[in-house]
Amino acid sequence: MNANKALDFLIKSETDPDLKKIAEKVVAEERITVEEGIILYQKGELNYLGVLANYIRERKHGDRTYFNRNFHIEPTNVCVYDCKFCSYSRMIKQREEGWEMDVEGMMDVVRRYDDDAVTEVHITGGVVPKQNLEFYADFFKKCKAHRPDLHIKALTPVEYYYIFKKAKLSHFDGMKYLKECGLDSMPGGGAEIFHPEVREKIAHDKCTAEQWLDIHEQAHKLGMNTNATMLYGHIEAYWHRVDHMERLRQLQDKTGGFQTFIPLKFRNKDNQMSNIPEVSVIEDLRNYAIARIYLDNFDHIKAYWAMISRDTAQLSLAYGVNDIDGTLDDTTKIYSMAGAEEQTPAMSTQQLVELIKNVGRHPIERDTLYNVVTDYKDVVFDEDKSKRYYALPVVN
Ligand code: SF4
Repeated sequence: MNANKALDFLIKSETDPDLKKIAEKVVAEERITVEEGIILYQKGELNYLGVLANYIRERKHGDRTYFNRNFHIEPTNVCVYDCKFCSYSRMIKQREEGWEMDVEGMMDVVRRYDDDAVTEVHITGGVVPKQNLEFYADFFKKCKAHRPDLHIKALTPVEYYYIFKKAKLSHFDGMKYLKECGLDSMPGGGAEIFHPEVREKIAHDKCTAEQWLDIHEQAHKLGMNTNATMLYGHIEAYWHRVDHMERLRQLQDKTGGFQTFIPLKFRNKDNQMSNIPEVSVIEDLRNYAIARIYLDNFDHIKAYWAMISRDTAQLSLAYGVNDIDGTLDDTTKIYSMAGAEEQTPAMSTQQLVELIKNVGRHPIERDTLYNVVTDYKDVVFDEDKSKRYYALPVVN
């Protein structure tokens, strides 16, 4: 059944009246309300949500599914903050278990990719006093001078709030200065759950929701694109997730600067919330689908394959997701330390392309701003060509 027929069936069948109304709104391209967002979480079963989310995904993107060639730099895993869900950071007092890179160390990582067709460096990590405004200004300048075509997607409002405050700069002036030094865009981390009822319990000492949103707003004013995340599946209620997405939807209405929404699954290995069980894959898929339906003004919904596994990333492509992130080259520890299935996350371009093609979608390598780098729809890798020559045994 194609997406339109499946949706038609939902509207005409004995669907719950609230869910039927939401389906009608989706077809009419009308925005759903906060209350309807909560209804989706409470009553929407997986198939219903998948039909709606896939309909929207195909309306916006067809089968096109994006990935990029990227690597990460995590300048430190020491952190002045104490987020209860964090498996990655070592607090200042456990410094001996952590690492802190200097600018040269970061440049060494950049230089490792000199002969590689990567398009993006993604930088994020802990927060330490030494890695201040001038530290990052120096790195961004050196990185751009060395490789001007490499897109620098770096840090989150958690780091920026801390370093701008220390430097006594406004959010706008701080972002403007770093943009002039070479910063291109901002990833979506540090958002967690915005509502203070949850935020104060899981991330009490870092930037507030208002500060997070304001730093993104200032970046958007400067013409920079940014992403947004939501850490779900721990102590939050469904309405907290909708409240979170509503705040993002409102800022997006104002600025239009967000590119991608990335739901992040809470993983419970080695952190202060390890007693909380992880949610199921079914809930992961429901959550991707609801994000696609609710965030009508976000173009892209991304599933980090390194965090949720390759299989779930493939499944998510039928539940609203149209981006599965990049090659990574085993340069990030954030997901593996939290207990993700992928302990050394790296995929070649060919593996990513096959992962997408194997579920009938159309793979496109993008740059950070979703410009097409290579369309892999009709590309056949050499290895695949050679497979065609295997002779089949003939039984007479
Ligand atoms: S989540 Fe980020 S800010 Fe919080 S403790 Fe971990 S590294 Fe620090």
